[in-house]
Order: sequence, then structure tokens, then C-alpha cells
Amino acid sequence: MTSRPPGPEDGGQQVVHREVIVVGGGFAGLALAERLGREDVEVLLIDRNNYHQFKPLNYQVATSQLGISEVGYPLRGIFRRHSSVKVAVDEVVAVDPGERSVTLSDGTVCTARILVLGVGVDANFFGVPGAEEHSYPMYTLEDAERLSRRLIGELDRVDSPLGVTDAVDVVIVGGGPTGVELAGAIAENLRVVIGPRYDGGITGKVTVHLVDHGDALLKPFSGASHSYARRELEQLGVQLHFGTSVTHVSADGVELGDGGRIDAGTVVWAGGQRSPRLIADSALPLGHGGRINVNDDLTVAGHDGVYALGDIALIPDTHGGNGGKPASLPQLGSVAQQSGQHAARNILADLAGRDRTGFRYRDKGIMAMIGRGAAVAEIGRSRRQIQGHVAFLAWLGVHVMLLPSAWQRVAAVTSWVTDYGTSLRPRRINLG
Ligand SMILES: Cc1cc2nc3c(=O)[nH]c(=O)nc-3n(C[C@H](O)[C@H](O)[C@H](O)COP(=O)(O)OP(=O)(O)OC[C@H]3O[C@@H](n4cnc5c(N)ncnc54)[C@H](O)[C@@H]3O)c2cc1C
Repeated sequence: MTSRPPGPEDGGQQVVHREVIVVGGGFAGLALAERLGREDVEVLLIDRNNYHQFKPLNYQVATSQLGISEVGYPLRGIFRRHSSVKVAVDEVVAVDPGERSVTLSDGTVCTARILVLGVGVDANFFGVPGAEEHSYPMYTLEDAERLSRRLIGELDRVDSPLGVTDAVDVVIVGGGPTGVELAGAIAENLRVVIGPRYDGGITGKVTVHLVDHGDALLKPFSGASHSYARRELEQLGVQLHFGTSVTHVSADGVELGDGGRIDAGTVVWAGGQRSPRLIADSALPLGHGGRINVNDDLTVAGHDGVYALGDIALIPDTHGGNGGKPASLPQLGSVAQQSGQHAARNILADLAGRDRTGFRYRDKGIMAMIGRGAAVAEIGRSRRQIQGHVAFLAWLGVHVMLLPSAWQRVAAVTSWVTDYGTSLRPRRINLG
């Protein structure tokens, strides 16, 4: 990294310069930096955490199936063989696309020939009173760890010989893949895996509720998957509340738009995502959902040397998958990863003075887990639907292969074999 001491022209700020700066070591930033690292391009990767987190498996940390080290992995470990990629752990507090620069929490300004933004998205509470203060969002590894402590604490409380006087039910807000996976795993813990092992038995003492304003679970999936997910969750005892939304969250439950109320000790928020403040406050061109408008080569509209990737980017769907109307690609790990790989190819072209190419997403399908032996998968663009044990094994196989390190793959498979092959789920003790 080239750097120079602060001078009056910088207002006392330290200024550093790099060929390529990548903000965010998620699916997109990681794929891009790995590819550039292989070509020995000088990259500064900035992330607020010193680890990459594999978000699709966060719910398994929350429900004691995997430990945090199987889902999060140190960024420096990932890049140990790529000496041209340096990792800086810091919060980016401002982005200036015109200058291709970002400002860090201590005021340091980092400028680049090429700036890449892959900062992902945050939880969206849609202004619902009490939601931010009283619910448990499910977006980051920290959220998952916090929820895990809460759920184990609640099991201890309900199993206490001293009795429980207030609400212990769990409400999950949102019936998308995160809400469904979580509802299935918590209900399975209560009924099948952890619950029966508590001394007094807690099966039947705690109910999991899932609230969604629509009329089906797993909205992006087909009707067959909607019905399958519904059936499986109902069999696990999950109470589904469709066609109503949560209008207020407090420490002891939620109020619903239809006038109903659910008493609950834990409310999990899986209800939506939004662009982070960092992006909303920048001079970047923003489109639907506050995401950054990008061209088909993944550069930001109007800013040639700036790329935006993954969840934060509004990437045109060149297959025109919206009945011929302009559409954007969904916020999925596979989109983020492929956009990172493609942007790396375009950056290599930029550096070599060649033309960039347009990004075409290879859609391999979508999948969601419901519980042991129960999952749905819809394969390829044609969305061929499979469910049950075959989809369950496919889900495990795909997710393990996508983990960024061999160590994590071995550890995850070992945990799953123990977990799914026995009635043990020994992952956690609660240290408070
Ligand atoms: C709970 C959950 C479950 C999911 N399950 C699936 C699934 O089953 N299948 C699927 O395909 N997709 C799933 N997704 C979506 C998938 O995880 C995202 O599409 C993917 O993570 C997007 O990658 P990204 O690189 O754009 O952002 P992210 O993976 O979110 O990474 C963003 C990175 O930027 C860093 N960062 C953010 N702001 C700053 C800042 N100001 N300063 C420094 N660093 C910053 C963060 O620490 C993070 O490391 C799930 C998402 C969630 C939240």
C-alpha cells in the first residue's frame, strides 16, 4: 500500500492508495479478491469483521447445529496464499464514487484506481414500532450467535423446577427461506432433538409461530414447494399466521394487523432487507430498494472505475426473466459469487486495456431446508422441483461445497453426520 503522512490538503487525514479497493468480504468481495489475488493484482480488502461469513448457514448456528467456526472463517486465512491481497479490518463510514475513495472510521481516506462495493444489505424493520429494540434479526453471524444464546436460555427457563411465569413462545416474522429454515429448525429442536432431553421435557410447552403477510411460504418457489413447506412445518407443530403482518413488537410479544396478539418471549425478524445507510448517504445512483444501479458489465452507472456487486447491486437480468419487462437479479449467494468472479475478469480487462464484457448469470436454481430429511430444491432455470430426502441431501451437498475452506467442509460434514445421524445435538452450552 502506498501511503503518505497527512498534510494540510487532506485536512489532517491519512490518505492511502491502492490499485483495487474492495469493500466487503462477503460472497461477492471474496470471489473477486480471490480471482485478482491469483493474478497478483494489488488489492486492499476492507471489512468490518476479520472473517467471511457464510450467511445461508447462519440459521444453523442459531439452532445449535453448527458452531461459528464452521460458518465464519478468517479472511486472512483465506488469502494466506495470495500475498497481493491485504485485509484491513475497519468500518467504511463514507463512499465517494467520484473520487473512487472510501473513508474509514478513524478518518483515513483510501483511494483506488478501481473501487469495488460489495457491502451487502441490512435488516429492514419497515418502521414497525419496537421491532428494532425487541426482536432478534437474523442477518449476520453475530445475530445468529445472539439468537442461539437466547433460545438455549429460554429452554433452560422453561425447564426450570422453579416454574416460568411469562411468555416463552417464539414468533418468526417472515415466511421466506430464512424464516422457514429457522422455524423448522427451532420446532425440530423443541420436539425432536433438544427438547426431549431436558429433564422435565419441554415438548408442547413452547410453540413456534410464523407470521407472513402473504398467503404462502417460500414466495420465490413454486406452488408444490409452498404446499410441501407448509405441510412439513405444520407437522412440526409450527403455527402459521398468513395474511397479516406484525404491527408492534414488545418484550413480551407482537401485535398483528388483524387485531390479534401473540404472547412470546422471543421475536425473530426475518422480514426484509434494505440498503445500508452508507450507500443511501452516498452520491451513488440508486434504484429499487435503494440498491446501486449497475450496467451489465457491473460498473456503477455513470462511474466508470467503480463496481457494485452482490446484494447491494441492482444487476440487470439479461435473460429478461420478468415477462419481457426489465428485471434485476435476486439477492442470492450464487448471484453475488458469480458477479464477483465476473467483475474480476472485467477488472483484469480494465488493467490490460481490453474491453469489458456483460455479466450473464448462470441460474442453477434455488433450495430451502425445512428439517431432517425435509427440503425443497428447484433446479435450473426450468425450476424442476424435488423435495424430501433427495432435496435434503442436495442441500447439504451444495452448501458444504460452497464453504470457502477445506477445514470448514470437513468440520461441517462431521457435525451433520453426528447431528442428523443420531439424536444428539451437542453443539452448545450457554455461557450467558
Ligand atoms: C440469514 C440469511 C440466509 C440466506 N440464505 C441464503 C441461501 O440459502 N441461499 C442463497 O443463495 N442466498 C442466501 N442468502 C443471501 C446471501 O447470503 C446473500 O445474497 C449474499 O451473502 C450476498 O453477498 P454479498 O457479498 O453481496 O454481501 P454479504 O455476504 O452480506 O457481505 C457483505 C460484507 O460487507 C461487510 N460490510 C458491510 N458494510 C460494511 C462497512 N460499512 N464497512 C466494512 N465492511 C462492511 C460485511 O461485514 C460483510 O462481510 C441468505 C441471506 C441471509 C441474511
